Amino acid sequence: MKFGGTSMADLERIRRVARIVAAEAEAGKRIAVVVSAMAGKTNELVAWTDGAGRSAQGLPESDDEYDVVVGSGEQVTSGLLAMVLRNMGLNARSWMGWQVPIITDDAHGKARIEDIPPERLSAALDGGEIAVIPGFQGVTRDQRITTLGRGGSDTSAVAVAAALGAPCDIYTDVDGVYTTDPRIESKAKRLAKISYEEMLEMASLGAKVLQTRSVELAMAHKVPVRVLSSFTEPGEAENQGTLVCDEEEIVEKRIVSGVAYSRDEAKVTLLGLKDDAGTLSSLFSMLAEANVNVDMIVQGQARVADQANLTFTVGRRDAGRAVEIMNRAQAELGFEELRVDEDVSKVSVVGVGMRSHVGVAQSMFKALADKGIKVQAVSTSEIKISVLIDAAYTELAVRALHAAYGLEQV
Ligand code: ADP
Ligand code: ASP
Ligand code: MG
Repeated sequence: MKFGGTSMADLERIRRVARIVAAEAEAGKRIAVVVSAMAGKTNELVAWTDGAGRSAQGLPESDDEYDVVVGSGEQVTSGLLAMVLRNMGLNARSWMGWQVPIITDDAHGKARIEDIPPERLSAALDGGEIAVIPGFQGVTRDQRITTLGRGGSDTSAVAVAAALGAPCDIYTDVDGVYTTDPRIESKAKRLAKISYEEMLEMASLGAKVLQTRSVELAMAHKVPVRVLSSFTEPGEAENQGTLVCDEEEIVEKRIVSGVAYSRDEAKVTLLGLKDDAGTLSSLFSMLAEANVNVDMIVQGQARVADQANLTFTVGRRDAGRAVEIMNRAQAELGFEELRVDEDVSKVSVVGVGMRSHVGVAQSMFKALADKGIKVQAVSTSEIKISVLIDAAYTELAVRALHAAYGLEQV
């Protein structure tokens, strides 16, 4: 079981979480619970580390200390939940990431889990103990604390489930995965089931209900994941949530399953770029070397011969770095002007049915055109189409596409 930040936001909510855990324990299940920090806590801790500043020249990077600070929010909630469970007469104890241990690589701030030896945890569960584990935290092989990147508790939960050979229930502030973010479209519908592949696209395209890496892990280890609400009391209302599972387990066939959006985009445009065979290759190598991930790419002929215009998108946090790299290489790349636009967002439709149906793109462009929304760039895969638009139209576009594919009726 995993409980997110809103579910752990204060003692009253932690008590409700404890009641949900207790009901499962009374049903005779062996339980490991993964918890997030209280809502807002991680942001606060990140701000503290920003305030402390980076290491002085010549000293090691302070990213490892960033993790010590930022990972502490989960230590508090796991201790509190264990205390509340004990006060209810249950046998519970907390296990910090390093105690489990949840072993990760040393990419501080965005570490990846490498191994979770299950022996100690399994023995505790076999002994009738409820294990409460802080999400988001890990430890390197040389005993330094790491964190898994924002939203990483989902990944901790799936990884612990995989290590124990158990299914994973993710309790959050919505009662499942919806056709789109219910905060933006009140007509969004809960999906009873969604395939790993679709969920992976939805997550990586901005639906933050599950961290992308957690879905990758679930898919790789075939962990059945259920997303459900932590706001219903055990046994109270029906709380079936959404099952994330193999495509074959889903009977009802939809062409489009959901609409996702991301405001975390920046558009970089280079005008009057040298139009020869090597330019694009050197440009994208420079970005790759600096670890800047490029998403959409559009190239067009400029009005002047031998010149091209190029537009590409990067994560907003990488925009500054991308610009710096481009400017430094201006002579080599030969462009005349560089523009950056952060007022953009990416809206995507996702569905495995796209593989076998035509006209999905046409419906998308028509729905956007009808609302007067201009498309600035497009990218596609077998099961998704994404468009880049003016950020001011994000909600309008999400609602228009949700209606265009009839998603309020699924
Ligand atoms: P937690 O704190 O439990 O990890 P998050 O805030 O990370 O919760 O994720 C849950 C939120 O994800 C919901 O409140 C909802 O606004 C958002 N969300 C975005 N897209 C979707 C979607 N397709 N289905 C459900 N929730 C979504
Ligand atoms: N507390 C961490 C964050 O806010 C991890 C999580 O909640 O999943 O990113
Ligand atoms: Mg989350």
